[in-house]
Amino acid sequence: MTSESRQNKLLLEGLSKRYGSFTALEPTSLAVEDGEFLTLLGPSGSGKTTLLQMVSGLAEPTSGRLWVDGEDWTHRPVNQRGMGLVFQHYALFPHMTVAENVAFPLQMRKLSGADLRARVDETLKKVQLDSFAHRYPKELSGGQQQRVALARCFVFRPRLILMDEPLGALDKSLREHMQLEIRRLHKEFGTTVIYVTHDQEEALVMSDRICVMNHARVEQLGTPRQIYSDPETLFAATFIGHSNVLRGKRISADESQGVIRTAMGEFHGGYTARDRSAEDVALIVRPEHMRIGPAPSAEFEGLSGRVHDLVYVGAETRLLLMLSDGSEIMLRHDPGIGAQPAIGDMLPVHWARSVARIVA
Ligand code: ATP
Repeated sequence: MTSESRQNKLLLEGLSKRYGSFTALEPTSLAVEDGEFLTLLGPSGSGKTTLLQMVSGLAEPTSGRLWVDGEDWTHRPVNQRGMGLVFQHYALFPHMTVAENVAFPLQMRKLSGADLRARVDETLKKVQLDSFAHRYPKELSGGQQQRVALARCFVFRPRLILMDEPLGALDKSLREHMQLEIRRLHKEFGTTVIYVTHDQEEALVMSDRICVMNHARVEQLGTPRQIYSDPETLFAATFIGHSNVLRGKRISADESQGVIRTAMGEFHGGYTARDRSAEDVALIVRPEHMRIGPAPSAEFEGLSGRVHDLVYVGAETRLLLMLSDGSEIMLRHDPGIGAQPAIGDMLPVHWARSVARIVA
């Protein structure tokens, strides 16, 4: 046992998965803290489910080790892991009532009588389904069914809960409601959760930390704020939130500051690139950091672009500007403030050097 493995709820040491010659997950090392909500976020096929399945025991790792509470779980059978699993399809027992569904994992653990009823009642109250206890799954809406699935998972107080796109089948408003509900349940029970989604907003709303995945590997692991404001790769910068990307060549990069040469001029930015040797780099500026007008002082930098589209979305107007290298940037403009730009206008824009980032 390594000393590090004792301190974390879960520790992956070089865990990988191959199917024949195809690599579904490159060797991956990461630690999950006790009580943490960690989200695996990435596009389809990036290896999220593969990683989760190895933690659950449903898939056998090709290499590496998995530690839970300091014990080596790499080859432990699924039925001895005692984890809670919630998937996109609720898999409720159709012939059992809501209360019977939720009681099932407790019965499997030999709980009965008043203790069992108290636990079921308490958990149904927490998911606001106490008045539905005697209904059958087919008499519930999709959101209610998913709440039963969550109750059935949280009721036996597992040490670790794995959720794979649990809200994937729900409509947008129910999805947003359930995101907050899962967060609340996680806080209330203090369980460690590993959650898979390809929805970046969902990951930002729910997670303590996000593990951004792409092409079978971890691109970046950090808090939502770290990943949003200090992306380490171009993929992380563009997959989470909207980024304006100015491509160019690295001129210099010291520990934290860098300079990039683009077709629109030279710009400075925090040098967050993970690959410090890359020559082809990109300056990243979030739309909310761009303002119309020339740079007011040396702390700011800017460029000009031609307005080629305006999109009115109520609280703001999105301006799309075409730059001299043919790329496009977007900025948000308050429709109630100042003169309204028009298509074809040449507009100067600026941003603070301190908010720009250089990635590769
Ligand atoms: P999605 O969001 O679409 O579920 P994902 O990030 O969860 O994607 P995985 O399910 O982990 O992706 O799959 C990663 C890669 O491994 C995919 O290219 C997939 O086709 C491949 N893969 C998964 N299971 C197998 C298998 N049993 N045999 C062969 N290839 C597989």
